Amino acid sequence: MGEISWTRARRAANALMLTAAVSAMAGPAAAAERAKNVILFIGDGMGVATLTAARIYEAQQRGADGASNRLSFEAFPQLGLVRTYSADSLVTDSAAGASAILTGRRTLNGALGVNDKVRRGDCVSVAGSTVPTLAELARKKGLATGVVSTAAITDATPASLYAHTPSRQWQSDADLPPEAVAAGCKDIARQMLDGPKALQLDVMLGGGAAAFTPSERDGKRLDGRDLTAEWRAGGGAFVKTGSELASVPKDTRRLLGLFAPGNMMRENARNATQTDAPRLTEMTVKAIEVLSQSKQGYFLMVEGALIDKAHHMSLAQEALNETVELAKAVAAAQAMTDPKNTLIIVTADHSHGLTINGGARDTSILGLLPGNEDDPARALDGKAVPILMYASGPGAPVAELRPDPAGLDTADPDLRSFAAVPLNSAAHTGEDIATYATGPGSEDIHGLMDHPAVHEVMRKALGLP
Ligand SMILES: [Zn+2]
Repeated sequence: MGEISWTRARRAANALMLTAAVSAMAGPAAAAERAKNVILFIGDGMGVATLTAARIYEAQQRGADGASNRLSFEAFPQLGLVRTYSADSLVTDSAAGASAILTGRRTLNGALGVNDKVRRGDCVSVAGSTVPTLAELARKKGLATGVVSTAAITDATPASLYAHTPSRQWQSDADLPPEAVAAGCKDIARQMLDGPKALQLDVMLGGGAAAFTPSERDGKRLDGRDLTAEWRAGGGAFVKTGSELASVPKDTRRLLGLFAPGNMMRENARNATQTDAPRLTEMTVKAIEVLSQSKQGYFLMVEGALIDKAHHMSLAQEALNETVELAKAVAAAQAMTDPKNTLIIVTADHSHGLTINGGARDTSILGLLPGNEDDPARALDGKAVPILMYASGPGAPVAELRPDPAGLDTADPDLRSFAAVPLNSAAHTGEDIATYATGPGSEDIHGLMDHPAVHEVMRKALGLP
């Protein structure tokens, strides 16, 4: 499968999306069957309303009926609902959510790779609370491991594979408080590239170059270290653009790609700037190509991070674009792997307060209620009713009056969707999220579950202790 080009992979992904040919490639496997490989997709903030809106949006983009559409992974045979609460909160953040999936233990919001004994922001408490991640267990057993994200690779979700920290904010040494430095705590970037070799990831693709680069060279690091140079000196390949990623030699075994100083660009900004950065699907395809060389198998986590970032900013259309991109990455992964030996799970860490207010079958999901007996076109304030809106976020007016969306271009990707409660950044929401699975071990994804149970499913499928 090493030959698959990005264009071909994207075309294949699109074809799979369009024809729904992806449908359950493998039915539920026999209970004893083991997975050689596990690919875990996390749609950050990808709640059920986001999935519904994204499937409608994806079909409407190509002139098809939205309501009856399916995203690639919505054809998987197994589906479970997952309770997402963290050790200290009804509503998890990405750190505690991803950490529960990767370690099987709930922790405090903001913490990674530790159990609930950790104290918030207390470096010393990490020693007594560290728990191994699935990536570390997989490495110990000789599997290759990798992470792909459209966020900074030191952001909470990707860091859940390798970091053990009481604060997701400690991404570079510039973010560490003096007492944490004095106590010998390592920032998240150092934990990724400067940890025990035996536990290091083989493939890391995403944004976040600043946390690896010294401040003198446009980075954030204050210790003068260039962690990417150290990685290269250790024999690893390092790329910074989509073109460089595409031309990585086929026999590359250790690959680091950092394509932006911080988070990668959302679809709209990509189109505006013509950036030479890979999309999520392209990174996923390359990661699978590299990891597939491992005879022992591999564990790969892929995060669609910008779903959450867009939701926080009330940019509903961008959140849907990123959800569709995640579905393409899943379809590409399916096309490249053997359903008999690869468990693919698609889940989320938490939801967001997006809601779908109504609409006729042929109304654009980005538009306004057309109005009928049940759903009036005008609200009690006499203004139009948006189909998509948020419970909270920067799209809410701080004065008493809301703008009339009837006068706005609702197809503009930069238009902030209306929200009820004004917040600088939309709040995550606490309802359950959906988890889809296919391949060996997927039969254990069903019913009402918990994030730690999803961890158990992957661990059991790979036969890890
Ligand atoms: Zn978030």
